[in-house]
Amino acid sequence: MKCPTCGGDCILPAGKVLDEILGMYMACSSCPPDPLFNKNASFNQRIDSTFGRCGKCGKRHLDFVIGNVLTLLKENGLFPEDAALKEVGTPLIAFGYQVPYPPRLGNKSLVLIMDSVTEELAGEIIAHVPEVKGVIKRTGLQSQSVGILDTDFTPHTYELLAGCDMRCDVVSSSIGELCIYKNQSKIHIEFNNTKIRKIEQLYLQGELDGAVVVDAFCGPGTLGLLSVLAGAREVILNDAWLPALKNAILNIKANSDILGVKIGFEVEDCDKIIGDEPVLLAKAEGAAEIKVYHGDARKLDTIVKECDICLIDTFPSVNPAEFAARCRDFAKKVVVI
Ligand SMILES: [Zn+2]
Ligand SMILES: [Zn+2]
Repeated sequence: MKCPTCGGDCILPAGKVLDEILGMYMACSSCPPDPLFNKNASFNQRIDSTFGRCGKCGKRHLDFVIGNVLTLLKENGLFPEDAALKEVGTPLIAFGYQVPYPPRLGNKSLVLIMDSVTEELAGEIIAHVPEVKGVIKRTGLQSQSVGILDTDFTPHTYELLAGCDMRCDVVSSSIGELCIYKNQSKIHIEFNNTKIRKIEQLYLQGELDGAVVVDAFCGPGTLGLLSVLAGAREVILNDAWLPALKNAILNIKANSDILGVKIGFEVEDCDKIIGDEPVLLAKAEGAAEIKVYHGDARKLDTIVKECDICLIDTFPSVNPAEFAARCRDFAKKVVVI
């Protein structure tokens, strides 16, 4: 599959990711040991693009990679000489997964979210640190959600300065595993699993089997697609934020074998970024029917006459009460995630 952002090979089918993920970041028998750098202390080493690389598998410990980036930042005068490793930014591995050991990184396997970086320097990082695939500049507060809070808000996005920001998170649950791809400069970073636990709970109670499920704020599709795995017969994914829906459609394709569905209809061109009246953007069929709508969740009653479960997953700073009340018009059960 071609990456829609860079045209490269960032998107692997979910089955392949799941087959390879356990070994993807593991040290080989020849890898140098953990460098045991103190990430909080002034970092005095100079690290170039070959330093710390394993001669056998070609991977490097995460700390060498960050040290390489910090060396560039210091050489270019953006960071003071006494800066520490942890000041560089937030590293996100390209195939996100709870790695139980310090990851060893291969080529283009890291997306960096940074507070202090220029476009020129981001280009330097991509050119000289082979493990980094994308550099994103954080804007606003760390606590501020990426995306849109509601349809009348100006979208808050980070800025992709260089490379590609497409990465995926492996979602592990008692229902099964999925790979959820996202353009990380446009999609909120999720660190907690409590939302997935809520879907597992519905699954264990038998409420998803054969059900019609509406995922009213679907984002890149995690909860709705998990519902398909859990046996839902029809799933409607809706979001007002177009970049999230493009990722959701990509995720139906990347997980197509696992979900047992194929996309049969897809709107290629949509120029409206924030949806209003729900518009059908894609439809997949097979083990379940999945429809992807671009619209304001308040207007879902125009396309959904009845459903068993409606999932409401707004950003933490948005009160879900109004949406929940509206969705009760057509949903037998509303679950605020
Ligand atoms: Zn890409
Ligand atoms: Zn090695």
